[in-house]
Amino acid sequence: MTAAFSKLPSVDKLLLASADLISIYGRTEVKHSFQKALMQRRANATNENPNALNADAGSAIEIIEAIKRQVTQILDRENAAKLVPVINLTGTVLHTNLGRAELPETAINAIQQVAMGFSNLEYDLQTGQRGDRDSHVEDLLRKITGAEAATVVNNNAAAVLLTLNTLAANKQVPVSRGELVEIGGSFRIPEVMQRAGCHLVEVGATNRTHLKDYEQQINAETALLMKVHTSNYEILGFTQAVSDKDIATLADQHHIPSVSDLGSGTLVDLSKWGLPYETTVTDTLKAGIDVVTFSGDKLLGGPQCGIIVGSSALIKQIKSNPMKRALRVDKMTIAALYEVLKLYLDPDTLCQNIPTLRYLTKPLADIREMADSLVEPFTNCLAGIADVTTSPCESQIGSGSLPIDLLASYSLKITPLQPSDSSLTNLLARFRKLPTPVIGRLKDGSIYFDLRTLKNPSQLIDQLDKLPK
Ligand SMILES: *Cc1c(COP(=O)(O)O)cnc(C)c1O
Repeated sequence: MTAAFSKLPSVDKLLLASADLISIYGRTEVKHSFQKALMQRRANATNENPNALNADAGSAIEIIEAIKRQVTQILDRENAAKLVPVINLTGTVLHTNLGRAELPETAINAIQQVAMGFSNLEYDLQTGQRGDRDSHVEDLLRKITGAEAATVVNNNAAAVLLTLNTLAANKQVPVSRGELVEIGGSFRIPEVMQRAGCHLVEVGATNRTHLKDYEQQINAETALLMKVHTSNYEILGFTQAVSDKDIATLADQHHIPSVSDLGSGTLVDLSKWGLPYETTVTDTLKAGIDVVTFSGDKLLGGPQCGIIVGSSALIKQIKSNPMKRALRVDKMTIAALYEVLKLYLDPDTLCQNIPTLRYLTKPLADIREMADSLVEPFTNCLAGIADVTTSPCESQIGSGSLPIDLLASYSLKITPLQPSDSSLTNLLARFRKLPTPVIGRLKDGSIYFDLRTLKNPSQLIDQLDKLPK
């Protein structure tokens, strides 16, 4: 055994032979990996198989090379980027698990600029005094939405939490039973209310809520009236909800604020481009609602953030809540949001410039043409494995936006020649192992790649030869 151990090189010898590895991963990391590899070999030899070290039979140089190969593999694997770009062909444009909105180029450049060095994030260049990070986007938000004031936090969940905690802690908030939504599992209105320190008062019924239901619940303990956009479902049939205007008027009569969690944050009327109408932030404010909260990375098409707009007095109160400090956004978000908002000043070019809106309004003929052009390369790549055709399909907007409405689209349809559940999931998994993983959707025995969100076909075709066998 001792003789076998003595065949193992020392860590110093291994390091001497590993200048290449050290230049990539650093001496400490490489040394640590060699120590682990040597320990493992010794343990294997003593525990189970005294001959294990003989597997390294060969010259000292060959043993060093073998250990180096093992360590290189481990280091390469451990140091591979964990967060990587993927190609989203799921048919869901705003996919929360795939990072939601793709940013416009101007926003990406702005992020790079502020990331590279110092900036006037909270510094007033005119006075030389301390500034306010919201100030960089507040004017644009005011202009676009018509609000008196605005502030920005980490996401819309944070916006709702901060608003409720500021305006309603230890007090009652009546909400319609039809609006007690859950969004993506961890965001549920009743639980957020509780965390914000306020008491939810359920009003009305699941399908019908009337103004008098709110009226009956208002008392000295009522902090505000709240509406929540039922983003990811719709109640159909015998329904009744109270309008923003009626809620706002009722709140005014009782001298309490009205709040609406809009979710998606549509800043322009999307029906102009043939998309379903979604209540805009401006419409909600015009109806008299005092405070509106919405996401930056849903239909707005910007960076992840939560935006709160409304009356100056209430926004001022919200901004001075110490919780704001814990929920604030960083300089890169501000930089990106500013650039995205700037694009809203020119509605005519909006759909070209904001990727989310470009994908949502992509003409069906263009999507179909893209699908057609991919049949041949995919057929060649999957010869003997799967049948490749094109097929109409339906895209979803996603992220709880406009849940009912689907958009006519076109996809590449891939059907394994020997259909089985495992051949389908295996094939889908192989596409996920491409250098830029491709994510599709399974339906009725086929894989569907919806091409609405493909930027350009070469992105996909150029890596097909790397599809794992
Ligand atoms: C999406 C959504 C939220 C949460 O927004 P995030 O930006 O994902 O935190 C809250 N309320 C409604 C109504 C939503 O649609």
